[in-house]
Amino acid sequence: MPQNLSSDTIAALITPQGQGAVGIIRISGPEALNCAGSVFRGKSLASLPGHSVVFGRIVDDKGRDLDEVLLTLFREPQSYTGEDVVEISCHGSHYILQELLDLLYRHGARPAQAGEFTRRAWLNGKLDLSQAEAVADLIASETQAAHTLAINQLKGGIRDEIRELRTLLLDFCSLIELELDFAEEDVEFADRSKLLQLLAEVRLKIDRLLDSFVLGNAVRQGVQTVIAGRPNAGKSTLLNALLGEDRALVSDIPGTTRDTVEERLNIHGILFHLVDTAGIREARDQVEAMGIARSYEKIRQAAIVLYVYDQSTLGAEDLVRDLESLEANRESIILVANKSDLPQVQAPPELEAYVLSVCRVAARTGDGVVELKQMLYDTVLGRSEFAPDSLGINARHRNALTAARQELDAADHGLRIQLETDLIAQSLRRVLYHLGEVSGEISTEEILGNIFGKFCIGK
Ligand code: GDP
Repeated sequence: MPQNLSSDTIAALITPQGQGAVGIIRISGPEALNCAGSVFRGKSLASLPGHSVVFGRIVDDKGRDLDEVLLTLFREPQSYTGEDVVEISCHGSHYILQELLDLLYRHGARPAQAGEFTRRAWLNGKLDLSQAEAVADLIASETQAAHTLAINQLKGGIRDEIRELRTLLLDFCSLIELELDFAEEDVEFADRSKLLQLLAEVRLKIDRLLDSFVLGNAVRQGVQTVIAGRPNAGKSTLLNALLGEDRALVSDIPGTTRDTVEERLNIHGILFHLVDTAGIREARDQVEAMGIARSYEKIRQAAIVLYVYDQSTLGAEDLVRDLESLEANRESIILVANKSDLPQVQAPPELEAYVLSVCRVAARTGDGVVELKQMLYDTVLGRSEFAPDSLGINARHRNALTAARQELDAADHGLRIQLETDLIAQSLRRVLYHLGEVSGEISTEEILGNIFGKFCIGK
């Protein structure tokens, strides 16, 4: 639960380490103004209102000028952390920044820990926990999709969904709790059929949020995708065609891609981690056998397997035998019928039992590669459109929401079999508890450590 203002004052560099035109140091806490004021020569900070910028000099303990700076002042609660904050923009020299930090540490501030500014922002109610996580996501975002999800979450997309769910449930919970107070009199304040309706509504909303995990996870983590197939099927050529540049080794000698090559492919903002594997074949020596074993391992771990075969040489029977040997989930396999520029040796049999979908391409000419990319994207996201207001929950949210969903089902079941009111009330309380975990009303030091520990110092 968010608590009161921190008693100490912290400082850290909030721009990247190293040389730059400008470097910024942030000071936050009750002594921020005094701390900055004691090394700053310019207007008196005490007389300035929040959101002011002033020019001046930083002078060290020996009276030497360290730098000319701009100082931005924020007064609590209107600052990032909700506390008094001073940000000093100086020249981005490593020496200046380190000297200034040391100076501030001697004048009442202590070094901020990783994520401590954002943690304070959360403690002071400036952000809920999902928004604090969004800050980290936003800083880490590398694609438009990652940026969209992070910014929507930062704006409070997930916070608002959770709030709505909690509000829906809270009214009913209080009625149920009231019944418990009057247990002797055997009254029902909460209309059972309305409660069932409400639970169905909440369940729908939770399920929609849970569904967004697929998107959130694909956008945050990328999608592990393996390219597999016999030697000479055209795996390396396909990898190059997908990437649009010559990266992997292509040759006419079977089995030349001895080990795995990893590349990143961005399809509409989703990063696919493409792994080109050693060709799957009868090994001729030990090194090759190890490469092939690694290929099978990669196939088992992959979210998607692009199984490439040369449709101009491989017959139907061999193809089916290869697919049977894969040991991968059917849902994850896209069969790529390569070399479509050459005549087909034999029409493939019905393959629905083995693969999710089939795509005909000519990797060498690039024919069908656009369609294959679309197929990859659709396989991950289903048909769900990526909209400007899309949300994508993370693994922590999913765990909490799954737990909430289970308790919701328990409450629903309890109502239907007319279980005692206090047992239903318990389940409802637990639903609220797990929803509170997402937003941070309910938190443990372990969860907080996990979230804020992933931040760098200065965030
Ligand atoms: P890998 O062993 O599966 O990685 O296969 P490569 O990508 O090294 O390709 C083997 C051979 O097939 C090379 O000579 C490629 O030029 C050729 N190849 C790959 N794709 C096609 C294609 O679409 N059409 C034709 N005609 N040849 C292809």
